[in-house]
Amino acid sequence: MAYSSNLGIGRMGANRELKKAVEGYWKKEISEAELHDTAKQIQLNNWKMQKDAGIDLIPSGDFSMYDQVLDTICMVGAVPQRYNKNQSFSELYFAMARGQQDKAKGINVPAMEMTKWFDTNYHYIVPEFERGQKFSAHAEKPVITYNLAKENGFETKPVIIGPITFLLLGKMKDGGSTLDLLPNLLPVYEEIISQLAKAGAKWIQIDEPALVLDLPEVARDAYKKTYEKLAKAANVKILLATYFEDLKDNLDLALSLPVTALHLDLVRAPGQLESALAKAPKDLILSLGVIDGRNIWKNDFAKSLSLLEKAASKLGKDRVIVAPSCSLLHTPVDLDLETKLDSELKNWLAFAKQKLSEVSVLAKALNQGEAAVKKELAANAEAIKSRKNSARIHNPGVKKRTESITEDMAARKSPFARRKQIQNQALGLPLLPTTTIGSFPQTTEVRAARAEFKRGKLSQTEYNNFLKKETEKTVRYQEKAGIDVLVHGEFERNDMVEYFGEQLEGFAFTSNGWVQSYGSRCVKPPVIFGDVSRKGPMTVEWSKFAQSLTKKIMKGMLTGPVTILQWSFVRDDQPREITCKQIALAIRDEVSDLEKAGIKIIQIDEPAIREGLPLHKKDWQAYLKWAVDSFRISAASVKDETQIHTHMCYSEFNDIIGNIADMDADVISIETSRSQMELLDAFVSFKYPNEIGPGVYDIHTQRIPAKDEIENLLRKALKVLSADQIWVNPDCGLKTRGWKEVEPALEAMVEAAKELRGELAGGKKATA
Ligand code: GLN
Ligand code: ZN
Repeated sequence: MAYSSNLGIGRMGANRELKKAVEGYWKKEISEAELHDTAKQIQLNNWKMQKDAGIDLIPSGDFSMYDQVLDTICMVGAVPQRYNKNQSFSELYFAMARGQQDKAKGINVPAMEMTKWFDTNYHYIVPEFERGQKFSAHAEKPVITYNLAKENGFETKPVIIGPITFLLLGKMKDGGSTLDLLPNLLPVYEEIISQLAKAGAKWIQIDEPALVLDLPEVARDAYKKTYEKLAKAANVKILLATYFEDLKDNLDLALSLPVTALHLDLVRAPGQLESALAKAPKDLILSLGVIDGRNIWKNDFAKSLSLLEKAASKLGKDRVIVAPSCSLLHTPVDLDLETKLDSELKNWLAFAKQKLSEVSVLAKALNQGEAAVKKELAANAEAIKSRKNSARIHNPGVKKRTESITEDMAARKSPFARRKQIQNQALGLPLLPTTTIGSFPQTTEVRAARAEFKRGKLSQTEYNNFLKKETEKTVRYQEKAGIDVLVHGEFERNDMVEYFGEQLEGFAFTSNGWVQSYGSRCVKPPVIFGDVSRKGPMTVEWSKFAQSLTKKIMKGMLTGPVTILQWSFVRDDQPREITCKQIALAIRDEVSDLEKAGIKIIQIDEPAIREGLPLHKKDWQAYLKWAVDSFRISAASVKDETQIHTHMCYSEFNDIIGNIADMDADVISIETSRSQMELLDAFVSFKYPNEIGPGVYDIHTQRIPAKDEIENLLRKALKVLSADQIWVNPDCGLKTRGWKEVEPALEAMVEAAKELRGELAGGKKATA
């Protein structure tokens, strides 16, 4: 018999109950006991949902109050020194996640670093180690959770993050390799596994997604040593889970580890099944991830069954487990709650709850024959066919236009050097021009007005008048502050992707399709289901209005194609590249319309371009080629005098700086202030040809920068870039800040720019 299995599930609850409870606890509105009650209820609901769906191997311990890596840090006793251990566990736990400030007590401890979990949009807390780091076993969470499930009638498979992945995701504070700590960590894992076995666990799932990365030989050796030890730690079956990519060079290694079962992601990498079947040692069970854990499409049963049956005929049913590709953490909970989606589209989708039933149907088909689930298979085939053939998906005009993209559509008319001269003349900007990234504070009033408009309490005219007033106020403020290139403030936008998606063909929106981004933060990505096209101008009216208010130059603001793609659930029936190019064409038309409307500078934001990088470095250039091309297609229709800006918000771009230069934006603004312009190191060896605004202050904190600090950062920039290349701007949009923070910060910024401008004009050495 093939088991059905699940690797993990979202923790927020169907109505984001955890978010509300955790934030309530932070605000001291609910007690720790109430928080734990909510957490318990969510887990019980999740277990019940999985059992009801017919899942045999139900995970426990995949739940987390904040993040599973943070839980692991606690489980192995790797809490950094700076956190006060003489407080309740919850206080300590959230102090690591969010930092701890208490002016009265003189406490000011920063949070631990956070970064993206592989190539997902989920962020984990980065473990911090020091040389000779000691660990200790704290198996309470997994053991108590396993027991809780058991007491309530659920036999579960505890899930823990494996030791090698845990070490590889962490950072050494004081140099050296995290893998050096393995000898200290291994006994702790052995202890935890043995405690889980003692509690009665029959299976333990150990997640080692790092196995899909390009690994150095030391890491591969570490895997061998580790699993030889862990296999002997207790009499328990280990399911070793890999996901998000092909195991590639690590396939032989993974197959050789002495575990009971190995999980493979067959959605991302169906090709690896063939070699896995050929090479699997006798007795090894393969857990086959055939249901997409990261997207919202209904599974194609016929396709999945052919993979499963191939595996079963080679290995025997007993050696096959049916599962989603990865944890269902990355999909929304329940499609049944979507009451506003039309039935045709809804019939193409599956959220976590529906995916669990899919796993179960496939397992049944495999075990009892297809006749046992005839109805389900027929309904599925019908849905797949309906999606494939729907006129809503296919727009021949868009397809034709995408196919006929030519190289010159991705190239500006003249090279940058020439454009620069023309733009200098046309725009008449001073040296070190000042600007902002786009959004201004989304105040309570702005959000309240939007909510009232959505509820029908404000009419379209009333809402527009309100937005116009906010825009005008912002324009006047920027004039007064002496900023050179103005923005309209983006008050009409709730979200930089949703705003465009709502105005494009081929997009749909859920009402409750939340996925955890980090901690209590969730996002609700749009669904790109069909060929993308623009219904009409999207931003032109607002930009025109804002420009009409002032003689200064008003920047037009757009979100770029790669970011729209990256922050949506995308079609799985065509390559991402094609979807991205379709979006690029829509943005291209918007850019042309803005230019026609008299907008002289247009910014196309691409904060997500780096996020799309594949996990294997050798796949990077192929991705970067179409990502950069998509940006260029969106930007390149304009005349030489129209200046194209882009914005990115991450500082680690040194390794792709050549590709960023290939985007050929006239000006790029980029986040750098948190790293004190570390990114400028890249310019020492790489001569960035175009103009650049290295963010001069961090908008992510309330802290107001002093003029001197900004000046110093600019002086650093002047050492590696020439003065006529540099723009002066904050490092990201101002929407999360209040006016009280924005005003003094921007004023300091303008003052700093003026000061340096004066020095440069006076011929003094500004770089001193
Ligand atoms: N223009 C956007 C803003 O200012 C850019 C946001 C972003 O970089 N994420 O809000
Ligand atoms: Zn940004």
